[in-house]
Formats: sequence, structure tokens, C-alpha cells
Amino acid sequence: MRGSLRNAAQVLRPPEEGLPYLRRPKDLRAEPGSVAVAEGRIAGFEDDADADWVLDAAGCAVVPAFIDCHTHLPFAGWRAEEYEMKVTGVSYEEIAQRGGGIRSSARALAQAPDGEVVAQAGAIARDMLHSGTFGLECKSGYGGSVEGELRQLRLAHALEVEAPQARVAVTALLAHTVPDGFDADGWMDEVARLVPRVASERLAQALDIYVESVAFGNEHLEQMGDLATAHGLYLRAHVEQFATHRSVPVALAAGARSVDHLACLHPDDLRPLARAECAAVLLPGAEIMGAEETAPGRALADAGAICVLATDCNPGTSPLQSLPLIVGLAVRRYGWSAREALAAVTLNAAWVLGWSAEVGSIEPGKAADLLVLDGPIQHVPYRFGRNPVAAVIESGTPRWVRRDQEWRISA
Ligand SMILES: [Zn+2]
Repeated sequence: MRGSLRNAAQVLRPPEEGLPYLRRPKDLRAEPGSVAVAEGRIAGFEDDADADWVLDAAGCAVVPAFIDCHTHLPFAGWRAEEYEMKVTGVSYEEIAQRGGGIRSSARALAQAPDGEVVAQAGAIARDMLHSGTFGLECKSGYGGSVEGELRQLRLAHALEVEAPQARVAVTALLAHTVPDGFDADGWMDEVARLVPRVASERLAQALDIYVESVAFGNEHLEQMGDLATAHGLYLRAHVEQFATHRSVPVALAAGARSVDHLACLHPDDLRPLARAECAAVLLPGAEIMGAEETAPGRALADAGAICVLATDCNPGTSPLQSLPLIVGLAVRRYGWSAREALAAVTLNAAWVLGWSAEVGSIEPGKAADLLVLDGPIQHVPYRFGRNPVAAVIESGTPRWVRRDQEWRISA
């Protein structure tokens, strides 16, 4: 099967081929052209006159399909009442007393049947596809017990079938809240017993931990790093979200693949992070929904960090699921260009999940997972909150086309 995306106004291409990530996304090229695809792969940049299908991309941008490398799918239910309490000034203590917070999501997950959880997550994933997300990370973390965590990991794997996304990565966020009946040290002992099973049964590709005063400390992060190294898993970490704990040097020493949030990153930790082979995953949706501090996105980009964006889709702090929306937030909030923000949801996000040799950029030989946007890339952040995705191409085949754009395709 051969296809041709013909006469695009912009084709977003890396400055050279074979890069695992981009530390200088401003070098991305966005020139007019065509993209030829064959047998599921990107074949080249000449128009293919004998293609089986043609997409008239006049006025459009062709970009790599988006990758959301930090979500908390699958979860059960939502926490809209809690959001209303939060924005109208009810204190965190009172919200917790009224049964809010991560624990309420853990309770909801425990009470929901498997089918209901997978169906809700599948519906969210289908919505995500329509806004361009073609690769997705899922996490555990609402399990509340060893059995609960194992169940949530299995439900995350069920999304490999239920979600329309061709690529799903699973992360074991085994240290999210301290479950009832444990202190943080005691729970980490359980985690140490659980990780060999997670690794041998291939339940996750990464371990994750939430470092915050109400959850786990840097010593637990170090422990999680040792477990990840011992079992050949990536280490990821939620750090510096609400307060500065100087967790970044600890994560770097432990060989972390990514450090996520960073709204309260200590200035002295910025350069070492920017120099390390560790992604800075920024979550502007959580920042705005939680009225958090702003991560130093501009300074990280200027220092050459591997900058990444994700939705952090979860029922508490970031019930968002659109990466175009996240791109818009990041551009405004961090002072990034469209190129910088798009690199952060394509190649750099792919690298976090270990996928960047296969997807994340438009270069010959890579999987032809592409988006057609109905305007130039600069419109993604500028027409804030609007979905610009006109078509989704999966492995060289049109997978979804927005109804008003169907005229572009001919066989
Ligand atoms: Zn998160």
C-alpha cells in the first residue's frame, strides 16, 4: 500500500536524520513539500504519482503523530466536585476531610468493575486520537495495595486492545500515596518485593515515584532508582511539583529517564538537568488547573534540555486530554515557539518511552504515523483550545479523517 500526502504548506522535519531527541528544536524544518509512504513506512519526500491513495494537503502542515508520555490512565470516575471546591477557595485539608484527593481515586478504582474502568479509559483514548495522540503512556498508582497495583497494571495492558492507539507504554507508579496501614518506609519494602514480579511478567517498562512532603522522600527515590537499575526498567519521577525538595540531583544520580513536573525546580539544578540524558517532562495542564508555580521552560530550552510536554491526564490535578491544548499552554506559559512545543510532544516524548528510533519524527524508514493539521504549525498554539487535526495516518494508512476534511482524500 502506497500513499502520498501532496503539496503540504509545511512538512515538519528534523535538521538531520537519526537523532534520538532534539535539544535545539528551533532547528526543525517546516518547509512546503510532499510525503510519500509505502508499506507502513515513510518512503521519501517526492510526490508518488502511482500511490494507492492521495491526500491533498494544500494549506496544511504534516507533522509526526503526537505522543502523550505522561498520563494516569486508566482511572475510575472524575473529581469535578473537588475541582469546584478548589477553585472556590475550600482548603486542601477540608477537601481531604470530605474524602477528596488521590485516595478518593483509589477508592473509586477499587469499587469499579474491570470492564467499566477499561471502557472509560478507552473512551478517553479515542478522544485523544482525534486530537492527534497516537502513542500513549499509562500508569498504575491508584491501586492502594499490592493486589490493587497489580490489577491496575493489568487494566493498563487491557488498553493495548481497547484503545485505538497503536502504541501503549505502561509505567508502574508504585509509590504514589502511602497506602493505609503502612508508613513510607514500610510501603517501599512492599515495593521492593513487588518490582521483580513487575519486571519478570513484563507488566511495566518503567518505575515511577511521587516525591512530595505528603508522599515519598528523596531516600525513597534513591531506592526506586536502585530497583529500576537492578531490573532493567526506566526510572521516572514526579518531582518539584508543589515545593522544592532538591530531588533532581538524586534522580540524575539514579539514572532517571525523566523528571516530571518541575514547577518548583531549584535554579542550581537546571544546568545539570539540561546537560543530562534525562528528559524534563513539563505538565502545564496540571500547573494551570492547580494554580501551581510555572516550570522554567524557557530557561530549560535555552540550556539545551530534552524538553517534553504531556497532559498528565488524571481525575485530580489535570483532567485534560488534548495535546494541542497543552502545546498552546506551554507556548504561552513558557515562552516557547511552536517548533519547541511540537518537538516536546513528538520526538522528545517518543524518546522518554524508548520509541524514538521508530516514531516521533518524519524521516525515511520510520513508521508512517502522521498528522495532517488544517493550518500552519504556528496555528496550533495561537488558535488556543481548538483541535487542528484534520487527519490521522497510522502506519501509512488514513486512520481517521475529520468529516469536513474528507474531500482531501482520494483513492
Ligand atoms: Zn502525574
